[in-house]
Amino acid sequence: MGTRSAPSKIIGTVNYPLHSRKPTAPGVAFVGDAALTGDPLWGVGCGWALQSAQWLAEAIASAATGRGDLDRSLGVYARRHRRRLRGHQYLAADFAKARPFNPLERLMYSAAARDESVARHMYLFASRLIGPLRFLNPVVLARATAVNIKHRGAAVPLAHLSRTGS
Ligand SMILES: Cc1cc2nc3c(=O)[nH]c(=O)nc-3n(C[C@H](O)[C@H](O)[C@H](O)COP(=O)(O)OP(=O)(O)OC[C@H]3O[C@@H](n4cnc5c(N)ncnc54)[C@H](O)[C@@H]3O)c2cc1C
Repeated sequence: MGTRSAPSKIIGTVNYPLHSRKPTAPGVAFVGDAALTGDPLWGVGCGWALQSAQWLAEAIASAATGRGDLDRSLGVYARRHRRRLRGHQYLAADFAKARPFNPLERLMYSAAARDESVARHMYLFASRLIGPLRFLNPVVLARATAVNIKHRGAAVPLAHLSRTGS
């Protein structure tokens, strides 16, 4: 059994900017928070740091060993980084503004609290396993609408919430 370490101090912050930088410049590449600082709320920054490092390694491995054009390889990395993360970051930065839920969020969050398949879909998006376009695809929006109409006026079933949280 290891020794228990003392709890660290709680540190608060009221200003934690979410930076999005272009992940490459001629001869230079950024991974992790250097390219994109996500909102800690979603708990994905470590995953994105490792993932972007892998994308960079895959894109430039050949060029870095003298078999290819480095700037073109950096372009491949930059496009992949943008395609996979920009939509998530856009929504997360918008969500971080402490504004009220917008109509789409109200629709999806209330349906996810009432229906197991919408809850699973919500989980896939929140863990960034699917992107914004799949999250808000018309079939799911229609299902969420149907769920909310069916449950109009009813309280959210607590048993459902504890089941989907396990
Ligand atoms: C409060 C909070 C909670 C979070 N919770 C989660 C979570 O639950 N799950 C999750 O996945 N992510 C979470 N994150 C985000 C996560 O910590 C970061 O996204 C991740 O650590 C980024 O990794 P990185 O390697 O890009 O950068 P960093 O981890 O910041 O590493 C950069 C390193 O470079 C060093 N450095 C800086 N400048 C120099 C220099 N000039 N020379 C040498 N070294 C230098 C720094 O000291 C640092 O060690 C959280 C972040 C915060 C602030």
